[in-house]
Amino acid sequence: MTQAADVILTNGAVHPLTNGETGAPRAEAVAVKDGTIVRVDSAYEVDFLNGVETDVVDLEGRTLLPGFIDAHTHMVMVGRYAAEADLSGVADPQSCLDLLANQRDESEGWVLGFGYDESNWGGDYLTRDQLDNISTERPVVAYREDMHLASVNSVVLNGYQDQMPTGDVRTESGEPTGVLVEDALDVLWDEISPDPAGMREYLRAAQDEANSLGITGVHDMVRQSHAPRVYRDMDMDDELSLRVRINYWRDHLDAVLEAGLRTNHGSDRVQVGGIKTFTDGSIGGRTARLSEPYDDADEVGDWVVDPETVRELVEQVDDAGLQMTIHAIGDNAIELALDAYESADGERHRIEHVEVVRDDLVERLADDDVVVSAQPNFLKWAREDGLYADRLGEERRTASNPLGTLLAAGATLAFGSDCMPMDPLFGIDQTVNAPASGQELSVTDALRGYTSGAAYAGFDEDRLGTIEEGNCADFVALAESPWETDDIAGIDVSMTVVGGDVVYDARE
Ligand SMILES: [Zn+2]
Repeated sequence: MTQAADVILTNGAVHPLTNGETGAPRAEAVAVKDGTIVRVDSAYEVDFLNGVETDVVDLEGRTLLPGFIDAHTHMVMVGRYAAEADLSGVADPQSCLDLLANQRDESEGWVLGFGYDESNWGGDYLTRDQLDNISTERPVVAYREDMHLASVNSVVLNGYQDQMPTGDVRTESGEPTGVLVEDALDVLWDEISPDPAGMREYLRAAQDEANSLGITGVHDMVRQSHAPRVYRDMDMDDELSLRVRINYWRDHLDAVLEAGLRTNHGSDRVQVGGIKTFTDGSIGGRTARLSEPYDDADEVGDWVVDPETVRELVEQVDDAGLQMTIHAIGDNAIELALDAYESADGERHRIEHVEVVRDDLVERLADDDVVVSAQPNFLKWAREDGLYADRLGEERRTASNPLGTLLAAGATLAFGSDCMPMDPLFGIDQTVNAPASGQELSVTDALRGYTSGAAYAGFDEDRLGTIEEGNCADFVALAESPWETDDIAGIDVSMTVVGGDVVYDARE
């Protein structure tokens, strides 16, 4: 006798995103028992599992997909955006300053803003003088969207400049402009890190935000924070409505090794991922490491971590049986990552971002057992007259983030947002409607990057990423079919389900 289901989601257009996905719905309903999918079928067939205690959710014709997995995110940042001044998408400096002034009035201590993007206006970073208008008594910091650069006021410079590497404090005629890059930011980061209780508030806010965007799992990049402990606290208290995979920053490697943590250790909801390092910086900050100079400056970018250190780290991480994940944006950096992985024995080492790609690197990325952890949303900067046109020039702009070319060549793609913004449908829209054909993916392939592709990057392909019997009951219900609209980014998320529990419902 078949047991009754705990939950039935019915009257939907179910897309399992398994092989053979055509964009036409392949089932109407799913049944869930103990958090696992036990039937994917017609509404009629699934109704046989409807018992007296079964919760039945009427999808009212909506599109049901596997839940989105954001393979590269920073949940503390998402929480910060929710709790501090959110400068993302702001069109002019004055509006940034207005938001920072509001934040000043509503808070004590540090006045923080996150996510500004000077390419929205003339390209000038916020300055010390502008931020001195917010306060001359409290420290003020406005982080650029990529977090590799921040603008600060005089209070910050007076208090911390002597602890910062001189080369990372930008000056004009010998005077600091208020613009800080890379290692100069570390000092500030320590100062503004929340305690465990504060972290729990940030992570709760970030989790709510993720669920509202259809996200059921994240690969979180953590560094010097209470997040790993707080996630486990939340897991024990049954407060996690996300599956969290923790990628530890390289400065935690010794601690991870000593504590006996290894990739894939963990619970149903919190798992150990890999060890992450930078190699280079960002295109926006002209710190991504290129083989040819930037188009708008006679520079080739920086090694944020020197190549020899990266090679040694990969060897150590690989020998320990941990997954490695390397931030590499410029073509030189991508080449370094591939070289470093050449002698690795472990599987599924990852390269994060993979933006400035040469033809010879496409081949290597396709041939090697490496996961390309890309951000389709970054194609927003690859538009005509966009940031990448300025920084990289025409040829490298249209060759950047070549997701279609990489997939066609046989590369393994996993998609994440890097929280710019943390919105899978926005990213999917960007690659489906990409500026150049090599950057373009079909709707199905783009969705797979955010589902089965991301699941694979997290060794989760046997339980996540597709709607199949035996998999975890993680779903997103969309108000419209992404195969049948020109505005994928504009589709409303109707409902998010994790382990059979409705964790977000737009109707409430
Ligand atoms: Zn990142």
